[in-house]
Amino acid sequence: MARERAAPRPAAAPGWPGVGAQLAARLAKLDIRAPRDLLLHLPLRYEDETRLTAIAVARPGFPAQIEGEVVSCDVTLRPRRQLVAHIADASGTLVARWLHFYPSQQKLLAPGRRVRLFGEVRGGFFGSEMVHPRVHPVNAGESLPEALTPVYPTTAGLGQATLRKLIDRALASETVAEVLPPALCARLGLPGLAEALRALHHPSPEVPASVLEDRQHPAWRRIRFEELLAQQISLRRAYNARRARRAPALAAGDGLARRLLAGLPFALTAAQRRAVAEIAADLAVPHPMQRLLMGDVGSGKTIVAALAMLQAVDAGYQAALMAPTEILAEQHWQKLSQWLAPLGIEVGWLSGSRGKRARAAEMARLADGELMLAVGTHALIEDPVALPRLGLAVVDEQHRFGVRQRLALREKGAAGALGPHLLMMSATPIPRTLAMSHYADLDVSVLDELPPGRTPVITKLVSDARRGEVIARVRAGCAEGRQAYWVCPLIEESEALQLQTAQDTYDTLVAALPELRIGLVHGRLKPAEKSATMAAFAAGEVHLLVATTVIEVGVDVPNASLMVIEHAERFGLAQLHQLRGRVGRGSAASVCILLYAQPLSQSGRARLKVIYENSDGFAIAREDLRIRGPGEFVGARQSGLPLLRYADLEADGDLLEAAREASTSLLRDHPQAAAALQERWLGGREGLLRA
Ligand code: ADP
Ligand code: MG
Repeated sequence: MARERAAPRPAAAPGWPGVGAQLAARLAKLDIRAPRDLLLHLPLRYEDETRLTAIAVARPGFPAQIEGEVVSCDVTLRPRRQLVAHIADASGTLVARWLHFYPSQQKLLAPGRRVRLFGEVRGGFFGSEMVHPRVHPVNAGESLPEALTPVYPTTAGLGQATLRKLIDRALASETVAEVLPPALCARLGLPGLAEALRALHHPSPEVPASVLEDRQHPAWRRIRFEELLAQQISLRRAYNARRARRAPALAAGDGLARRLLAGLPFALTAAQRRAVAEIAADLAVPHPMQRLLMGDVGSGKTIVAALAMLQAVDAGYQAALMAPTEILAEQHWQKLSQWLAPLGIEVGWLSGSRGKRARAAEMARLADGELMLAVGTHALIEDPVALPRLGLAVVDEQHRFGVRQRLALREKGAAGALGPHLLMMSATPIPRTLAMSHYADLDVSVLDELPPGRTPVITKLVSDARRGEVIARVRAGCAEGRQAYWVCPLIEESEALQLQTAQDTYDTLVAALPELRIGLVHGRLKPAEKSATMAAFAAGEVHLLVATTVIEVGVDVPNASLMVIEHAERFGLAQLHQLRGRVGRGSAASVCILLYAQPLSQSGRARLKVIYENSDGFAIAREDLRIRGPGEFVGARQSGLPLLRYADLEADGDLLEAAREASTSLLRDHPQAAAALQERWLGGREGLLRA
């Protein structure tokens, strides 16, 4: 999966008074570039320095503040060099230790001095002790702070005291513009922003730390709501901006599409017809479509893409389809060629597996418009391919690509100011909350129906110890004319090891099953070798295909009805679902055997349970989101972009819903407030959302 980073924002505004270059650099690490960013830098937790605890009653394992007189302070050398001080109050004595210390600290702890220590109390061999407590000198009877002390997320070289001082200064100097209409705040029970910020940075003494840290406090809800609202506004504006850009209007002349449909051995499902109609309507409008076609593995997205591509051709424009792997791209090319040859349409094919000369010839034919359709891998965007009349770019398995890669394909169209339409396809369903947030700038079509005649895949969990039985099953299945996949264990740490394992697995299976023809594909094969093996498997000449996850996405060989996945516990849920989706594509009953090795980790067990119990990709994605959290889920699309800092998509579903509604009315009725809010939270970082 491509990982990309957003370009860094500019460093602190010059002339931020009192903040030198070094401090500015450290603040920048926290994404703080101006005083107003400090306001939104909120505490992680709080320390209660409003009370003193008598040494004798301080509870081990809990933070406490004590005040006493220094009895002694020495540097000891055993068991290692450290500063050890004894502090006494009326109730007892406590030992304080510092393993790292400065001479100034030693001076501060001169015997007879009165100090306050804050830290976690431990029961030590010599009585209560504190390791590395915070210490400061006080006079007898000195007053205590009235509010909890906030503890901020920070970075090396930037102390809490400095951060607090800066934040306090910002709170005093910055005006906090209220952008939410009062009626909205009242309806949601949210305080004003200034009030919320004050409550979080300087909580009032009556509020226990636990209430604030729980984030259920109205002040926190206000912050989370604002953040979600800023995100919604940003997405909405991106959406509107896109609707304002120009694209070629591809009129739905249904000549080619009708002829393709007439020649197909199947009829479209209702879901496919709906998606085709939605896409066709978008393409006919002179603004760039940005649509995600979401459909479970095997739901038939390719034919929908082919029909859209024909609409472009019918209107005199080119269309390109990009797939994430060589194998998948080649399969698409073959399928499209087979479908379109009867219509007299040739499909260009750009991949690493073709010789330089053949590729150059293909590029030339695309460049002068002799070829109207192109299929390829990254080669489509990496080679100097010119598609002068690109009207539609299709990206299959879009989550496998980075934001910039998808943008690059769009830029291929040199049709002046007219950008191409963009259709993205994915079998990884996006849970509702994510669809509403991170993907809210897309239009979505869903294939919620599988073509008829599929038999559900039976999933079996089998311990590694019973591998012999599994091999026997492969033998029996292939003897009946079926075909099987054997997926090698995933070894993420080392590609070399992964290849070795694949080779070993292949050798073992060849020895165990001498009567079968067995093929091996992995990422390091030459493209031509890979494609020859895949072609042999698709043609039924190879019975058993031993493979790494290069076959994970999209591969479509309907006669294959047995899938064995070794060390299934190492794979992610989306991956397992994709792999399992390689079978169950024909009419034969299919089986997916998940071999696992004991002992299972807790998360490995949880994943196997989910995949065993669920066949619906949406349900699996929901569980995946629950197990992994949205950060990883959003993956390449969001990479480089800050995810939500405070809001939590799962926990804040109600706020998200409200934010979505509010974004519409705010943009309509108070566009300046909406812009201010977006600036406050995203400050120019939202560019990549538009990909
Ligand atoms: P995916 O959505 O996973 O990309 P494919 O487009 O590869 O699915 O389609 C899976 C298989 O189903 C292909 O062999 C395709 O030709 C076939 N197919 C697609 N639509 C239908 C349909 N409506 N009826 C029967 N088979 C279909
Ligand atoms: Mg597909």
